[in-house]
Amino acid sequence: MKIRLAAPLQKDSVVDGFGVRTVIWTQGCSHNCPFCQNPQTHDFNGGEEWTVEEIKRELDELNNQDGITFSGGDPLFQIEPVLEIAKHAKKLNLNVWCYTGWTYEEVLKLGKKNPKYLEFLNYIDVLVDGKFENDKKDLNLLFRGSSNQRLIDMKKTLKSKEIVLVPESDGIIDSFKNKDKLFI
Ligand code: SF4
Repeated sequence: MKIRLAAPLQKDSVVDGFGVRTVIWTQGCSHNCPFCQNPQTHDFNGGEEWTVEEIKRELDELNNQDGITFSGGDPLFQIEPVLEIAKHAKKLNLNVWCYTGWTYEEVLKLGKKNPKYLEFLNYIDVLVDGKFENDKKDLNLLFRGSSNQRLIDMKKTLKSKEIVLVPESDGIIDSFKNKDKLFI
């Protein structure tokens, strides 16, 4: 199985979720958010093709990484390979975040046509959802660009069947801002 990536895996990121993370920059997005920061990732024929096996091998060799983050582009345009990579990351006990331009509710609708979207949510710790909206841009937000985007705690959300956000008021995010290494 193949996946198109915008760039090689980026290790040691501290700005794409809690802790120290490896970012998988997927290629391809048609959400067309005005003022998108990564327009070079939109072309579905751009970037480079990788095999899922190649990415799994890279994950096997990671050291000192708390987790992986799917970003892009929109990773959900390549749901099959992304699902396989997320499953492998979980086997390795890595924490998994995923950014998408779809809202969580839209992902659930996609799941009615293709159950792999729903399956994928089971392997995600945090889903950062929604398009970037420039009129809601806020540089003080952690791990997202605009205030409509949500940090959704997927484990709690699936368990309770209602959206549970990563709390911002109980000190978890505050401690991260104070540079404590943190892992959820
Ligand atoms: S979803 Fe992300 S990559 Fe796609 S246009 Fe919006 S900001 Fe850009």
